[in-house]
Amino acid sequence: MKTILLIEDEQDMILGLSDALGFEGYRAVAASTGKKGVETFKKEQPDLVILDLMLPDTNGYAVCQELRKLSRTVPILILSARSQETDKIRGLDAGADDYVAKPFALGELVARIRAILRRAEHSKATPDTARVGECELHFAGHTLTRRGKESALTFYEVETLKLLLERVGQVVSRDEILDKVWGVSAINARAVDNLIVKLRKKIEQSPDTPKHILTVHGVGYKLVP
Ligand code: CA
Repeated sequence: MKTILLIEDEQDMILGLSDALGFEGYRAVAASTGKKGVETFKKEQPDLVILDLMLPDTNGYAVCQELRKLSRTVPILILSARSQETDKIRGLDAGADDYVAKPFALGELVARIRAILRRAEHSKATPDTARVGECELHFAGHTLTRRGKESALTFYEVETLKLLLERVGQVVSRDEILDKVWGVSAINARAVDNLIVKLRKKIEQSPDTPKHILTVHGVGYKLVP
């Protein structure tokens, strides 16, 4: 049974989400402060974390950074009433994989969680290294090495790269990336574009004139290794 850690201080939200996740066959454990969240993370080794930004003792960004030191790979989904673009970018920079603004539809969030966990499971069984430009990608370790320098890849970055690599030289539409990697398309239409920007910074020699992850205008993206 997969364990999902919910770091959230609103009691209603904890109850609602725990119920919905339990109904889907997940084991939900909740922590109501950032400090407790990190402790529970160490103890439970969850398969996924849902993290609120406004916590009584600290903010979610700090918790996110803390969790990333403990695990590079666990998917972290930030959940917050703040829905400004800068908050999203800050959350993603802190190492979160995704950002969902409150209020959200419970069914949709659960569908997305299901997809993330399914991808994570599928991911364990697929090839482990690939080469793109100057980069050596190591999927299991969620890292890439470029000119001897290693950087971390997030869960969604790994899954997007795998999808683009499966279809090398072909255009993969934004919708398909959303559907296959995120599992739902309605919540976060710009997630793919933001992720590609980050990937280019890691992979491309000059991210503004990419040679490996190309934009096909109005359609999607194409990988040229
Ligand atoms: Ca809160």
